[in-house]
Amino acid sequence: MELNTCSRCGAFFTSNGVVCPNCEAQERLELSKLKDYLAENNVTTTSIEQISCSTGISEKNVTRFLSQGIIEM
Ligand SMILES: [Zn+2]
Repeated sequence: MELNTCSRCGAFFTSNGVVCPNCEAQERLELSKLKDYLAENNVTTTSIEQISCSTGISEKNVTRFLSQGIIEM
């Protein structure tokens, strides 16, 4: 059995993915929010801080979403 560490809350979990089952719903919500935001805005002139401000997603999570390549820039 392999233990993963949740990228959001740091809890250990055994299922696949980057977040624990407790954070999954919130993760999905923020991801779709971020995708909508990026679709509507000119990303090249937008900073992480600005995205975080507009979407309510923490800078840490915005950075993580982007660096994981979940979002196509
Ligand atoms: Zn979690």
